[in-house]
Amino acid sequence: MKLIGLRIDVDTYRGTKRGTPELCRILAKHGIKGTFYFSVGPDNMGRHLWRLLKPAFLWKMLRTNAAGLYGPEIVLMGTAWPGPQIGKRLGAVIKATADAGHEIGLHAYDHHKAQAKIDRMTPEEMHNELQKGVDILTAILGEPPVTSAVPGWRCNDALLLEKAAFPFRFNSDCRGSTLFMPIVDGRRLPQPQVPVTLPTYDEILGRNGVTDDNYNTHMLSLLQEEHPNVLTIHAEAEGGKCAAMFDQFLTRAGEQGWEFKTLGELVAGQPQWPDGAIEPRPFPGREGWLACQK
Ligand SMILES: [Zn+2]
Repeated sequence: MKLIGLRIDVDTYRGTKRGTPELCRILAKHGIKGTFYFSVGPDNMGRHLWRLLKPAFLWKMLRTNAAGLYGPEIVLMGTAWPGPQIGKRLGAVIKATADAGHEIGLHAYDHHKAQAKIDRMTPEEMHNELQKGVDILTAILGEPPVTSAVPGWRCNDALLLEKAAFPFRFNSDCRGSTLFMPIVDGRRLPQPQVPVTLPTYDEILGRNGVTDDNYNTHMLSLLQEEHPNVLTIHAEAEGGKCAAMFDQFLTRAGEQGWEFKTLGELVAGQPQWPDGAIEPRPFPGREGWLACQK
């Protein structure tokens, strides 16, 4: 099998407004549908500036030239003034993405808060954040989102339990190698997990000799035939500075016989569901911990 599940994370106002339509254009050109995860509340991503105080994040900013990648307004967004409400202002972009045939999921209400504060959130706060995001997406789409994916792969068992109360058909909250059914406190949760199997652009650029010139070749070399691959791209990167490179990746992958699917299609095509669990682990190219498949 030569399958790639395509997941598109949209973290910011700019990524929604500019990156998403650009990716829709590229995907339409290749006849590919993906699963878009939208952040729909305030864009407070500029608060990441504060994380510059942490050395690992500083290195990542230098390695990937984050201001060049995301644009200066993203780096500053939410630092000195409240960030714009993405869903309220750009609902038409999200609806158009659904109307183009892509699968739509919830990334976050407040991407920054979900990523930075999960360790300190009570189950009730987690529920409220999910509910706010689901309500906004439901109003935009006319139906609830079918899936969700935590920002920054910051997920824990408590959050999985809260997600189980929502009508998501599956979730994509961790890094790993194979699709599985999460077990929490001895209970098999009803929503399958679709782990991301491949690294992201910002994780590997500038490491181990990976540059923009050999990035696609490197990514193609990581694809495996034993099980579906799951790729995450970002509207801010592959829908912006890296758009031409991503377009070429789709061409080359297609020439090599790789077929792109939405994550929902991967779930529907999965013959059997092994049990699994998530645990926090350090991850190459990222600061702090990420939820990983045990
Ligand atoms: Zn994100």
